[in-house]
Amino acid sequence: MSTDDLVVETPRGLYCPPGDFYIDPWRPVDQAVITHAHADHARRGSTRYLASARSEGVLRARLGADIDLQTLDWAETVEHRGVQISLHPAGHVLGAAQVRLEHRGRVWVVSGDYFLSAHDERNPTCDPFEPVRCHCFITESTFGMPVYRWRPQASVFSEINEWWAANRDAGRASVLMAYSFGKAQRILAGVDPAIGPIVVHGSVEPLNEGYRSAGVALPNVHRAQDLSKQDLVRALVVAPPSVAGSPWLKRFGTHSDAFASGWMQLRGARRRRAVDRGFVLSDHADWPGLQRAIGATGAERVIVTHGYEAVMVRWLQQHGLQAGSFQTAFSGEGGGEGSAEGSGVGSAEGSAEGSGVGIGDGGDAASPASDA
Ligand SMILES: [Zn+2]
Ligand SMILES: [Zn+2]
Repeated sequence: MSTDDLVVETPRGLYCPPGDFYIDPWRPVDQAVITHAHADHARRGSTRYLASARSEGVLRARLGADIDLQTLDWAETVEHRGVQISLHPAGHVLGAAQVRLEHRGRVWVVSGDYFLSAHDERNPTCDPFEPVRCHCFITESTFGMPVYRWRPQASVFSEINEWWAANRDAGRASVLMAYSFGKAQRILAGVDPAIGPIVVHGSVEPLNEGYRSAGVALPNVHRAQDLSKQDLVRALVVAPPSVAGSPWLKRFGTHSDAFASGWMQLRGARRRRAVDRGFVLSDHADWPGLQRAIGATGAERVIVTHGYEAVMVRWLQQHGLQAGSFQTAFSGEGGGEGSAEGSGVGSAEGSAEGSGVGIGDGGDAASPASDA
């Protein structure tokens, strides 16, 4: 790595030497630039934070209302020791940003996590991914394997609606497990609320508030304790994966359960979850989406952070790009949510199931439960 690099890996996180700040640091630092509010990217303890204006509500909900936070509108520029910093939508979850850095004519972009698929679809709960031209693109690779190709979202949502309606007709609740920040709101925005009442777990509602205050339309939802037994058996229940096997589920009696995640593409992941249904729905780019995003930057150099780094690096090199990887503490889908899910080692779910490719650390899947 040349000393001219605008971003390097350090024990505290990705660091910009000329600007003297960190991007999504995993240890407390003086100045942190945050791509988005998932737990593996936004951590407590830093002195000052810089993030997108769109992420402010959810970021404060997660890190505390009193953090020292400066926000930027999309494409607004701020200068730090001669480095121009601007934020551009990543399409991943509310407020998720790519960080563009410019210094002495060189441009680097740190993607954070992003969503893009082959179908030209966007995540309707946030601003769509915007390609940013750069010399070096630092990309995630959570689903960077050819097996990951998302179907059109409309067909996934009609499967979810059909499953819910069939359960309602059979007199049982439909418990859909999904990460509480990002995936849960995507589901709420995508299902047909005419089918029956919608219940959310207590961990989901504060994040819904962040979405609503940012102007994202979500249907009316209830807390489980506010509904009668007759209504509960008609309900769609959106709850984080950590409720599996917990007493919280008992109130719903006999129910059908399902899990919504990109990992559900793999049969092994569905089996291991031991749920009735797996719906393939991700807030991350699929394999064609990663390729499109990387191509659209025009970058001659690409550095892969979390996910299937080795597979992606090989593919990039085969296509004539200068490619390498950074070891990070980012996890993949699931965003480090909860202890059960995120945090750890990375794609556990990926590696465990998928093929054994190795995946590394990143996957959010760290734990058995992870990933969204
Ligand atoms: Zn992540
Ligand atoms: Zn994320």
